[in-house]
Amino acid sequence: MSVSTAAADQTVCTPLPVLGRDVLVPLVTGGEVTYAALDYAASAPALQRVWDDVAAYAPYYGSVHRGAGYLSQLSTDLFENSRATVAEFLGCRDDDQVVFTRSTTDSLNLLAAALPADCQVFVFETEHHASLLPWRDARVNFLNAPRTPAQAVETLERALAARDPYGPALVCVTGASNVTGELWPVKELAAAAHAHGARIVLDAAQLAPHHPLDIAELDVDWVAFSGHKLYAPFGSGVLAGRADWLRSAEPYLAGGGASRKVARRADGGVDVEWHTTAARHEAGSPNVIGVYAIASACKALTEAGFDSLVEREQRLVTKVREGLAEVDAVRVLSLFGDDAPRVGVISFVVDGWNSSHFAAALSAEYGIGVRDGLFCAHPLVRTLLGSAPQDPGECGAPEAEPGERSLNAIRVSFGAGT
Ligand code: PLP
Repeated sequence: MSVSTAAADQTVCTPLPVLGRDVLVPLVTGGEVTYAALDYAASAPALQRVWDDVAAYAPYYGSVHRGAGYLSQLSTDLFENSRATVAEFLGCRDDDQVVFTRSTTDSLNLLAAALPADCQVFVFETEHHASLLPWRDARVNFLNAPRTPAQAVETLERALAARDPYGPALVCVTGASNVTGELWPVKELAAAAHAHGARIVLDAAQLAPHHPLDIAELDVDWVAFSGHKLYAPFGSGVLAGRADWLRSAEPYLAGGGASRKVARRADGGVDVEWHTTAARHEAGSPNVIGVYAIASACKALTEAGFDSLVEREQRLVTKVREGLAEVDAVRVLSLFGDDAPRVGVISFVVDGWNSSHFAAALSAEYGIGVRDGLFCAHPLVRTLLGSAPQDPGECGAPEAEPGERSLNAIRVSFGAGT
């Protein structure tokens, strides 16, 4: 199908993905244009069930934890019930807290702010910047890119055993790569972390939309993910896990909602008693619609059943990879090799093509929306491309002339509803 740019410009985009549809996410309904949005790894279109739930509630939103009126009571109930739904979705343990944040990035920054004194952080250089960068106040040990899952575990074990001093430590690892889609050996890494007296946080931004998550079964200490990648719009995220570090940390934001009691002191200062529940890190009026959307997505995915979603997605992964393999000029990027288990995230380069031009052509000529660039994982993409450091801008795409070797990559990604 060919789409003229003018036609696309005039078309109103209406997200219509529904679980179980047979088409590639039709986004544009005006005219004859069909647009395939294959950029789920950046933001996944909301599921129909989520749109319906949000639309039903949106006219009635009100303040959370703050009012006696009906709208406030309703919103408080939805907010706290959403917390319970997310806890159930993640298989949380009794001593876990579910904190609502803005996103995975926000969740990991919150955890970074809650680290105990002298905590060392261990993180592979292959991580998304959201996992790589928040640990500014800690001593960070960047681990070299492993080339097999077993090597990842060995590298971590060696680094943890050699830490000096042998104090508190946190490992941050992604569940599924936002570049290659490859699954990381989370359970084994968690076991290694715990064997060496460290804790572990799972960046599940790309895992949660594709796989059932069980925090207790994986034995990770925290999980972070974003609503907008889990088919739930409106800027909310989750940090769930062990309450102890969160309870003893300074509130992430200071303000109303996080404080239980505030009083002037005789010396003129102010005494504050902070909440010890998740509210401690949720100061200000929360994003109740976004949180409700996450809970709705958790329910929709659970009801649809991950088994059938995974099976369907894996068929598509195979189809896309087989199609790409037929094109000599295409090189699919992989850290762990062709046989590694992966989710519906596939990055590649095309010989002789500037990736940005290629992605623009896919959109303008074929109505296929993909992502190009370094995907906020510069060290990993550079390792995979074997390229020297460039200056690409935060998540951007350094330019290569047509015909030159690509300095960045193209990514297609999909999931439930595709
Ligand atoms: N972690 C991974 C693996 C990601 O793919 C992303 C976003 O692409 C993030 C973290 C950051 O998510 P957000 O932008 O929602 O904070």
